Amino acid sequence: MPQTPPDRIVIIGGGHAGGRLAQLLVADGAARQVTLVCREPHPPYERPPLSKGLLLGTAKPEAMLLWPEGDPAWTRVARLSGTAAEAIERASRAVRLADGTRLPYDRLVLAMGSTVRRLVCPGSELAGIHHLRSIDDFLAVARSFTERKRLVIVGGGFIGLEIASCARRRHLDVTLVEASDRLLARVVPPRIAERLARRHVAEGVALRMGTMVERFVGTARGAVRAVQLSSGDIIPCDLAVVGIGARPDTGLAVAAGLEMEVGIRVDASLRTSDPAILACGDAATFWHGLFERHVRVESWQNAEEHARVAALVLRSEAATCSAVPWFWSDQYDLSLQVAGLPTLGVSTVERLPGDGTMILFHLGPTGRIVGATGLGRAEAIGREISAARLLIAARAHPDPARLRDPAARLRAMADRQTIPA
Ligand SMILES: Cc1cc2nc3c(=O)[nH]c(=O)nc-3n(C[C@H](O)[C@H](O)[C@H](O)COP(=O)(O)OP(=O)(O)OC[C@H]3O[C@@H](n4cnc5c(N)ncnc54)[C@H](O)[C@@H]3O)c2cc1C
Repeated sequence: MPQTPPDRIVIIGGGHAGGRLAQLLVADGAARQVTLVCREPHPPYERPPLSKGLLLGTAKPEAMLLWPEGDPAWTRVARLSGTAAEAIERASRAVRLADGTRLPYDRLVLAMGSTVRRLVCPGSELAGIHHLRSIDDFLAVARSFTERKRLVIVGGGFIGLEIASCARRRHLDVTLVEASDRLLARVVPPRIAERLARRHVAEGVALRMGTMVERFVGTARGAVRAVQLSSGDIIPCDLAVVGIGARPDTGLAVAAGLEMEVGIRVDASLRTSDPAILACGDAATFWHGLFERHVRVESWQNAEEHARVAALVLRSEAATCSAVPWFWSDQYDLSLQVAGLPTLGVSTVERLPGDGTMILFHLGPTGRIVGATGLGRAEAIGREISAARLLIAARAHPDPARLRDPAARLRAMADRQTIPA
């Protein structure tokens, strides 16, 4: 009997979403060829520890690997590491690699993630100025991340703040420069950002808000020795880390003529405008069934969810993205967690369950809960935000007075909701 040729699935990007997807695709033992094209030389890994446990020295790089020892992915996924895809030839269904090789595919998945935004100003090419996206970036930062070193962090976003927290724990001298007049301006409400700012100051971080880097000043040997701000101040330093955000890595998709919407535009099943191509992770702007709009999310949970949905779709099973987005950040002993899409809220309800924990619920125009942001001890935040995620998933319209009341149990409120199919 003639055999159907195995599906040739090529994944571009061997980071979190691509690595997890490849693992899921070979887990069922079906006859399909899975090829993972990875620009980085490392096997797929999770990035969150780069700005947390690894910098603190409490985590080991091996613990970040997505494929545990003995996982079938190690032998069943063809991993091309240290190799970049250079072009997608849609007409002939092939990917061209940097070394000229052509990889034919039946289905292609784009999982190129994000690229860090670089600060371009005089002196920005000096040695000792870093970004933090990959293990190699981490290794470069780690070389000078030692006691009493003077560190300047540019950018008061999640990554900059996590680096500041690790640096203070390791007794570096830390100045954080932020152009806006508050921290986390794009993603976190002012009340939470203010609490966090106070904690950083109490831990010894010098916050320089509302000012920008004008230029980096170097030594005669080309290493950074100071940062000059737009305020005119000069801050001496031994190293600098720039954390001013990331943008979706979409160059290949744009060149291939795929439909875009900041990221690569896909439907709820992660299909691009070319039926043979899916996109997932940070690089994809996807239709979110729960919020009925296209969204792009940069988070661990999103990479996991997209890998799960893409694996089902590639097995011809019905699957769509509708999980409540969720993001966390660890700073000192504080956990900051964001669920749903807080930016869709038009009003907020504050809940103070005690022990310094603050939760803000974000309600849409009809009173539907669309997001929650919490800061406090990990256990309390974990409990409250998981209940909030259930309420968000249920499209609930909770009574604001009960949300505010620390004695009212959120979990019980969530349990009374029916989650729509
Ligand atoms: C320092 C750091 C800390 C983080 N902390 C948190 C956290 O606490 N909580 C949270 O929820 N999220 C966190 N995140 C975000 C989370 O890690 C990302 O959202 C997630 O990694 C996205 O997965 P991805 O597969 O889309 O992209 P990535 O994991 O970035 O993988 C993309 C891969 O594609 C490769 N690539 C790109 N172009 C090509 C090409 N042409 N050819 C071959 N390969 C290519 C890239 O080199 C990269 O390896 C953090 C991210 C960073 C950088």
